[in-house]
Amino acid sequence: VANVNKRQLGQQILTILGDEQRPVSAPELMDLLAKKGITPNKTSVYRQLPKLVAEDKVNEVLLAGNTSHFEISGHHHHHFMCSECNGTFCLHDNALEEEIHRLERELVKKGRHVERHEFSIIGLCEKCA
Ligand SMILES: [Zn+2]
Ligand SMILES: [Zn+2]
Ligand SMILES: [Zn+2]
Repeated sequence: VANVNKRQLGQQILTILGDEQRPVSAPELMDLLAKKGITPNKTSVYRQLPKLVAEDKVNEVLLAGNTSHFEISGHHHHHFMCSECNGTFCLHDNALEEEIHRLERELVKKGRHVERHEFSIIGLCEKCA
């Protein structure tokens, strides 16, 4: 079924990202759509992604030196990125968040204004290590 309308394409992207539960790059997403028999042109997918991000349904994961990855919006968390294959994996760690929040409170006490924090680990995934 090459012909899906924009709304259906958006729904399919959300379904795939919901199933994957990890950040997926646009080319990977094209492959995952193709596996479901959906073969939209690249432009439609690349147009749909920022729309879903603007609607807060999808989170764009930006890591230095990596292509953008997209994941379903949800709890705040951080990522591990493989510098070899660019695979990106979610890190959920409450202890890390508590420690960062403690540090943020200290900065606020010093009169600094905290907007957000960024943290990621770069290395090699189990396949590339
Ligand atoms: Zn890797
Ligand atoms: Zn994630
Ligand atoms: Zn955090």
